[in-house]
This record gives sequence, C-alpha cells and structure tokens, in this order.
Amino acid sequence: MSIPFDPERFRSEGRAVVDWLADYWAHLEERPVAPAVRPGAVRAALPGSAPETPDDLATVLADLDRVIVPALTHWQHPGFFAFFPASTAAPSIFGELLAAGLGVQGMLWSTAPACTELETHVLDWLAELLGLPKRLTSGGPGGGVILDSASSGVLVALVAARERATAGRSNTAGLAEVGAPLTVYASVDAHSCVEKAVGIAGLGRDTLRRIPTDPSGAMRVADLEEALAEDAAAGRRPCLVVATVGTTARGGIDPVPAIAAAASRHGAWVHVDAAWAGTAALCPEWRPALVAGADLVDSWGTNPHKWLMVNFDCHCLWVADRAALINSLSTKPEYLRNAASESGAVIDYSDWQVPLGRRFRALKLWLTLRLFGAAALRQRIRDHVAWAGWFAERVAAEQRLVLLCPPSLSLVCFAAATGDAATAALLARINAAGPILVSQARVADRLAIRLAVGATLTDRRHVEGAWRIVAEALDAPAG
Ligand SMILES: *Cc1c(COP(=O)(O)O)cnc(C)c1O
Repeated sequence: MSIPFDPERFRSEGRAVVDWLADYWAHLEERPVAPAVRPGAVRAALPGSAPETPDDLATVLADLDRVIVPALTHWQHPGFFAFFPASTAAPSIFGELLAAGLGVQGMLWSTAPACTELETHVLDWLAELLGLPKRLTSGGPGGGVILDSASSGVLVALVAARERATAGRSNTAGLAEVGAPLTVYASVDAHSCVEKAVGIAGLGRDTLRRIPTDPSGAMRVADLEEALAEDAAAGRRPCLVVATVGTTARGGIDPVPAIAAAASRHGAWVHVDAAWAGTAALCPEWRPALVAGADLVDSWGTNPHKWLMVNFDCHCLWVADRAALINSLSTKPEYLRNAASESGAVIDYSDWQVPLGRRFRALKLWLTLRLFGAAALRQRIRDHVAWAGWFAERVAAEQRLVLLCPPSLSLVCFAAATGDAATAALLARINAAGPILVSQARVADRLAIRLAVGATLTDRRHVEGAWRIVAEALDAPAG
C-alpha cells in the first residue's frame, strides 16, 4: 500500500471510520458501561509483532469490535456517572480531525500564525462567557492558553510562582541557592495534581501544607492564615496557594476572595483549580459562586474536556500577568529565532507550557462554541444540574440512604445509612448491574458513592434509570 493515502482512499475510508463511530454511539446503551476484563486479556488477543504487509481497514475495524470495544470502560455511555465526565461530541471531534489533518505545530506564532491567534481569541470568548474578569484576557497584561490538563495548569502556575517568589533566581541558580524554602498551600480536598506539581517543581512534597476544610468542604481560611504566618515566621517563603472551585470528591468550593486576601499579605501566587465546576460559570445563576475572587487571583483554570463536550485534552488556563509565565518558561535557542518573536508583537505559546510542540487544540473549542452556541451549552448544564437535583431528592427521601452533602451542581454524594461496609456493598451491587457506573470518594470521613451527571448522551431517563438501579440494589438480598 502506498504512502501517503491518495485523497480518494482517505475520503472513503474516513467515511467508514465516521460510520463506525456513529454506530458505536447508536448502540452504546446496549452495552454494560464497564465490562469485566481480566488483566492481560487484550494483549493475549493481539499478534505478538506488527504486520510486515498492510492489513485493510475493514479488518482493523473488525478487530476494534472484537478485541478493543469489549474491553473498554465506556466513558461516553449514557449511564456513565463515575469520576467526572470526559464528555465528547461531534463538533469537538470535527475540530480534532481538522487539527490532525492540518498537522501544524503552533509552538511559535510564526510556525502557524492562525493556530496562535485563534487560541488567544477563543480563550477571550470563553473568558467572557464564563464571566471571568477582563484582566485575565488578552486585552490586558494577562491572557489564556490551552494546555493538556488541569495538572499541567497547576504545574505551570507553580513554576511561574516559584520564579516570582525567588525574583527569577530559582530557574538559573536553582532552589538550593535561593535560601528560603518555598511552601505551597491547598486544602485537604485539593486534587492530587497539586502534590505532584510540588514534587516535579523540586520544592519537595513535604512543603505542601494541607489546610483543613469546613463542613461544606471549603478551605478554612483561618487555618490558611495561620499556616502562612507560621511559615513566614520560620523564614520560609509562601509561594503558591491553590484554591479549588469544585473539589473532586464532593464539589466543595474554596472561598477564593478570602484566600486571595490572605495570600496577598505574603506575596503568594493564587491559582484557582476549577477543572470540573468552572464550566457551570456559563450559567449566570451559578457564576457568582464559581468566579468569585477571579479579579484577585494570578491564574484560573478549567477543563472544557470535562463538562463542556470538548474531547480530552483541553485545559484552559488564564493568567493575570503573562510575563510571569514567560519569564519562567521561555527559552530562545537559535533554531527558533524569528523576526515576529523578536518584534514582541506576537504570542509564542511554547513559552506558556512545558513542551515545545503544540497541537491546534483551539479548533475543537472553536467548533464546539460555534456549532452548539452558548445557549445550548448553558441549557445542557442546567439539565444536568436539574437531573442531579432530582436524584438527590430521591436519595434524601430514602431512609436506607443518606446524602453526605447537598448536591454540588451535577454531583451527588450519598451513602448507606448504616455505614461504610454497607456503602461498599451497595456500590458493588450498583456497578455490577451493568447499565450504570458510579465511583467512590471519602466525604466527611465516610465512604461516599459519587454520581456525576454530565455525559453527552445522558438524558433525564438515564438518571431516572440510575435511581431504579440504586433502589433495586438496596432491595437486593445482602451477600
Ligand atoms: C479532574 C481534576 C483535575 C485533574 O484534571 P486533569 O485535566 O486530568 O489533570 C484537577 N483538579 C480537579 C479539581 C479536578 O476535578
């Protein structure tokens, strides 16, 4: 077979791939969300070596049906309520396909000008839709960038914060030379990516202060203030405070304005991790709680790849001072020199991220916003929140269950009334049924069953079906 594909072959086989996906979605509901798979079963069904001569597409698609699909957890299944959604939809897939076909590298403005400018522009659009302040957009000293993940957003914020806290010396001289040990703060419910970033950035994971939360799951600012003061008094240098808007376990929301006030007294960078909940700021009714304090923070990030139907990966990070990012991440080797960069009139996004190369991710956000329109996206979020609220009401009315906290947007955390052992057994029975998948967390020191509504294909009837499965699992004989 010739390389490259001729355009006619691409056209016909491309259609076959699109048809395959359309069929997969059409029949997804008939499959269990998470089939039982033995470790090693997939590899055992694959040949030991790559083919020397070409296979045809039909054979590969048949293997996809035979070997791969039966061994997947189906994240796009309408009964997928586990973790947080990783929602995809046609517009984003079109964007992804176009990005792959264009195959440009957007590391510098000059390497693919529209790749950079569309990204800057669409992030300004999204900032406006979310109600983020102008200072985080490209009109002022700030601006937005698309990274692969919220974890990268935290890492990039930390590296910029580290550089700012050490007056630009940690990158060059190294942390050991800087003297004062740097410290980082996040609530006990903050995502594990904060700890990971602290390790990667060389601060040492022990420098992360885990601040307690109140019964609503929000960081206790008095404890934060105390930890900041104690570190400062001991000669340590508070570097970064991560506030979470929508904690992973239960959707708790840290009080960003008070956190920003406390951090500013010590010159610490404030990053808001709104990976999942940030999307709901599209709706004015929830926006105040979600973007409160955004006018006071240094960076703010959310994942359209969770709840906005943009397929993974798409993390949007906005910073108030892009120079701080660039100061910590920019390099200028000879082979990347060009007149546009030297003019200072353009953005070179490789200076805003860890890798050099970068995908044309803005296309999928652009197509999602254009082909759906903001009104439909808002309505979708409202539906998800309403359906989760309906489910939470059923839980609250059932004596054998307890709601461990009020629902947070479209996330419901509940448990068996009699304790963790019964909750674990109930969780196992719910997931063994097949049509839905829920996950677990610890909430208020109890094992929680988490139901997160947000998959693209989920409709109200699927949430109603989820409740029927929970009710049947409650009625099933123990054991
Ligand atoms: C999901 C999540 C993350 C991690 O997201 P990635 O994009 O997979 O790195 C970080 N923080 C919070 C609050 C999350 O919910």
